[in-house]
Amino acid sequence: MKRTVIGGDIGGTHARFAIVDEAKNIISTEKIRIRHTGSAQDFLEQIVSALEKVLNTARARDCDVQAIGLGIAGKVDSERGIVIFSPNIPEARNLTVAEKICSRVNMRVFIDNDANAFGRGEVWAGDGALFKDWLGITLGTGVGGCLVLSGKVWTGEEGIGFAAEIGHTTVYPGGLQCLCGKLGCLEAYASEGGIIRMIQRQNIFPEKQVSTSRQLYELALTGDERALELFKIAGKALGVAIANAFTLLGIRKAIIGGGVSRAWVFMEPATKDALREHMSMLDLDEIILKTSTLGDTAALLGAAKLALDGLAGTHPRK
Ligand SMILES: [Zn+2]
Repeated sequence: MKRTVIGGDIGGTHARFAIVDEAKNIISTEKIRIRHTGSAQDFLEQIVSALEKVLNTARARDCDVQAIGLGIAGKVDSERGIVIFSPNIPEARNLTVAEKICSRVNMRVFIDNDANAFGRGEVWAGDGALFKDWLGITLGTGVGGCLVLSGKVWTGEEGIGFAAEIGHTTVYPGGLQCLCGKLGCLEAYASEGGIIRMIQRQNIFPEKQVSTSRQLYELALTGDERALELFKIAGKALGVAIANAFTLLGIRKAIIGGGVSRAWVFMEPATKDALREHMSMLDLDEIILKTSTLGDTAALLGAAKLALDGLAGTHPRK
């Protein structure tokens, strides 16, 4: 039997799971849509039932699953295995996710923030291994961030439950409303949710429905000026945030992932202009900005690595 773990990526609308072996191979995947009823129990049932299905697949494929790692969108206390708060999964507030799932599937469970899982995945299997110190940014439904220092994902002060939340750093004081309640966060400009809200608020495409970043990307490919302008706005906001982060931290490399990053070609010039304008101490020609080569598997692989680290005793949750 092959020694494996399950990696999961739990967002506001979907959860994805993968059986992964120690050689970084993804053996099988499963995706579910999450229904939000407001009940923590309903949320857990959906996750447990998906995991049971994945465990059945594992048995059929002769895989010995030894632990589960989950990256979850939100503020997560990885040491204690608790989701403190998640704007996109509000029913999970203060939920002891690791313990509750462990008692149902009878297997050790480790959890972390989904952007931290992205960082672990990049370090383990992607371009994150090329650099010692770098900033990870995921442009998805929201904007996630992770900080890798000396090859390790930095999880913030002990028990604080977040680190490198670049999506909720301010790029325009008094700017657009963010779902977190503040004004002018990067997420309001450069996430899929933020961009779609801009489109709806200003009725930018009165003749058609544009409700995903993929549709917007396809419009940009046809040369649609409105789509190009929206990616330029996103790129500029991203550049301001990265300029501040690089100047603050003394790092100069970033890996960008998430669905919106497929439009990187349309964002990059504006990002670089903003870096040139706002970055101190660094020149543009020493900066490295890369898009993730792992695509949407980065967070799944990273969650699997979280489980492997947990088994090896190198994760603080024993
Ligand atoms: Zn915010």
